[in-house]
Amino acid sequence: MRSALEALERLREGNQRFVSEDAGPQALSSTSRRKELANGQNPFAIILGCSDSRVPAEIIFDQGLGDLFVIRVAGNIVAPSQIGSVEFAVERYDTKLVVVLGHSMCGAIQATLEELERPSGTRSPNLRSIVDRVRPSIEELTLTDLRQQPDKLVHHAVRANIRASAAHLRHGSQTIEHLIQHQGLVVVGAEYSLESGVVDFFDVPAAPQGESTSEFT
Ligand SMILES: [Zn+2]
Repeated sequence: MRSALEALERLREGNQRFVSEDAGPQALSSTSRRKELANGQNPFAIILGCSDSRVPAEIIFDQGLGDLFVIRVAGNIVAPSQIGSVEFAVERYDTKLVVVLGHSMCGAIQATLEELERPSGTRSPNLRSIVDRVRPSIEELTLTDLRQQPDKLVHHAVRANIRASAAHLRHGSQTIEHLIQHQGLVVVGAEYSLESGVVDFFDVPAAPQGESTSEFT
């Protein structure tokens, strides 16, 4: 089984190929690969990302069929169904890496900031359930000087929301906590830049004994 840090390195390399326009056509999406995967999958990473059409995980990490177990929801929020999806994948496929993937200029974050500034009270309860999950991690930011700098505010809010989702996931269930403590499961945050195409990973834990730390400090 691939370790979390090996999986992370594979994602970094794929993103570098994507950024340098060295990516695809993805050989691993061939007909033979499709037939092979019909008998089972073994994804090396789980991505909990935003639904934004500009942030498709397989493309920005240059991966093929069967490589990534992807959960997408507006604002990359963590609700029970996302926790359940992660539990399913880590238990079923022994996947060791979970990436919470947010992105610059996220519409869900901007909508939440607008709601904080001018509460509308007219959103559907379903949409409100997303805004309400984003709100706690960014509310404090709107009380700082960042309020005067809208672009900076969104940037910081995106990061705060990613960090909050990752933290929530790490403690989302006893199953996940146990796997983190005893089985080498790692949950990291990452931000994708719509402009540059680069994924910036953060809150990556120090490598366990026996693994190189140079890439992750
Ligand atoms: Zn988004």
